[in-house]
Amino acid sequence: MNFETHDYDVLVIGAGGAGLRAAIEASAAGVKVGLICKSLLGKAHTVMAEGGVAAALANVDDRDSWKVHFADTMRGGQYVNNWRMAELHAKEAPDRVRELEAWGAVFDRTSDGRILQRNFGGHRYPRLAHVGDRTGLELIRTLQDYGVHRGISVHMEFTVARLLLTDGRAAGVVGYERERGRFRVFTAGAIVLATGGLGRAYKVTSNSWEGTGDGHALAYDAGAELLDMEFVQFHPTGMIWPPSVQGILVTEGVRGEGGILLNKDGRRFMFDDIPDAYRNQTADNEDEGWRYTQGDKNARRPPELLTRDHVARCIRREVKAGRGSPHGGVFLDIAWIKKRLSDAEGHIKRKLPSMYHQFKELADIDITKEPMEVGPTTHYVMGGIRVDADSQMSTVPGLFAAGECAAGINGANRLGGNSLSDLLVFGKRAGEYAAAFARDNRRVAVNQAEAQAAADEVLKPFDAGAGAENPYSIQSALQEMMQAQVGIVRTEAEMQQALVDLDVLKARAAKVGVTGNRDYNPGWHTAIDLHNLLTVSEAITRSAIERKESRGGHFREDYPDKAAEFGSINLVTRKGANGSMEVRRVPILEMPAELKQVIEEQR
Ligand SMILES: Cc1cc2nc3c(=O)[nH]c(=O)nc-3n(C[C@H](O)[C@H](O)[C@H](O)COP(=O)(O)OP(=O)(O)OC[C@H]3O[C@@H](n4cnc5c(N)ncnc54)[C@H](O)[C@@H]3O)c2cc1C
Repeated sequence: MNFETHDYDVLVIGAGGAGLRAAIEASAAGVKVGLICKSLLGKAHTVMAEGGVAAALANVDDRDSWKVHFADTMRGGQYVNNWRMAELHAKEAPDRVRELEAWGAVFDRTSDGRILQRNFGGHRYPRLAHVGDRTGLELIRTLQDYGVHRGISVHMEFTVARLLLTDGRAAGVVGYERERGRFRVFTAGAIVLATGGLGRAYKVTSNSWEGTGDGHALAYDAGAELLDMEFVQFHPTGMIWPPSVQGILVTEGVRGEGGILLNKDGRRFMFDDIPDAYRNQTADNEDEGWRYTQGDKNARRPPELLTRDHVARCIRREVKAGRGSPHGGVFLDIAWIKKRLSDAEGHIKRKLPSMYHQFKELADIDITKEPMEVGPTTHYVMGGIRVDADSQMSTVPGLFAAGECAAGINGANRLGGNSLSDLLVFGKRAGEYAAAFARDNRRVAVNQAEAQAAADEVLKPFDAGAGAENPYSIQSALQEMMQAQVGIVRTEAEMQQALVDLDVLKARAAKVGVTGNRDYNPGWHTAIDLHNLLTVSEAITRSAIERKESRGGHFREDYPDKAAEFGSINLVTRKGANGSMEVRRVPILEMPAELKQVIEEQR
């Protein structure tokens, strides 16, 4: 096959916040930039982000600073974060948000005209710059409007199927147009992966159809290392009813605005279990919690705003103990604030417009009058491609990663709002360093035979013939299995069984078949996604087996406590010489004394 080929200095894969920000920065460095995305420009998952972007602007509470944000991020991640990334993130996020404002983002405002900030779980002070509950939309709109004038070439509805290396360096990609199924090759001096998350490996998820772990699997297959794949975030509040909307996110902003969690007996159960590390910062009565949400600087946060991992487990505990709501979750009530605010209905509609419409349209619930039913949903992956903190280069030369597909900043648990700021801070860095790499390392030719072999592999499902497996039934079996066996609560026996099940699913995937032709064929696209989903599921499972403790998003019933030996290591996954997946422990570098002191000061 003769491939249509496009040549760039920097090729960015993914047009969410991280990819757009990387492309803008690379193009500002004067190199030729190509941007590829699987869906239409403007439809990346980032557009769904609701609550806000975390940055210590200190507009609402002047006690905030990069130091408090850094300490909050490290505490939230339970100290296995890449401290250098957490430091860069906390220091640079305010400039990235102000820059976004200068480029035209219209944030909600304080009464004196500055960017308004709201409370979110695990953040000591109101820190999330936001646009109602549609912050991701504004972020994407602004980056796109700004980016399209910078000469970036965009290739939409194109799925990258394989990275191509030349002499051990990232040299290009091969993939197919989703519309016509035609293959194309792209070459580049440097490649930035910004492909987002992998929530679609689970049955109940807030992630869009794009979240199939493509970047994680592309990097792994190319020999890059993955980091801490066991850390998957189960957001405490997803919709649970009706079944067709199960998993859709209910933003933490609801709790930030004063929403409370209740069990079926009307008990505010979050007061029953406050972790020691947060006791000093958590309200011990309902009145104090309410005052905090209304900006009283002398009040401490309500327990509903503890970290997501903890809140999700408390909800699970209530449900397991038979104190859940009728459809297997708990109640999230924002309507109660009418007892405290004269125009509660208007306030809720103004601050949470998407939530109001989401429940009205999808569940026939008026959240200004009735409580919502919510339960945990697979939301985010803290694990991802292992990168250098400053440059975002992976362990494969010339291959960079930023945003949700990269790992390090969040440790064992991400604080809400820290993803949008991560995209901006590390998207910019990835673009800058990729451009510099491409300048220093000329583009090299890719191996056409390798590109052809990858295309042949991708086309295989059309030749499966009799006895072919259906891609949707494999995908759904995988999602059910991961939800049940490597979900919010894990045990050795269940995860060992998951490995056995994964082998069976891999064997089935090898026989997957599709009908029809290559013109927009969702069955075929699903068949191709399977390899990525199976790869990331195995990485999650193997890492989760190796981490014999509970920390952040990773909770093991057989090891319910944190273990000191795991507090000083990360788990690194890579493809071994014989092609099998290997997980090894890597010590975390010693934190500099000045950062240790920052953490001590903020305890
Ligand atoms: C409902 C919801 C609400 C959220 N709210 C917030 C919030 O308020 N604050 C916050 O900080 N975080 C929030 N998050 C998390 C945050 O939105 C995501 O972590 C973040 O947007 C990921 O951005 P990204 O740029 O890394 O990837 P994405 O935005 O997921 O973009 C990935 C891009 O990669 C492309 N792509 C993927 N695979 C391929 C391939 N094989 N070939 C070509 N292109 C490919 C896709 O087409 C897409 O363009 C929320 C998440 C959800 C689900």
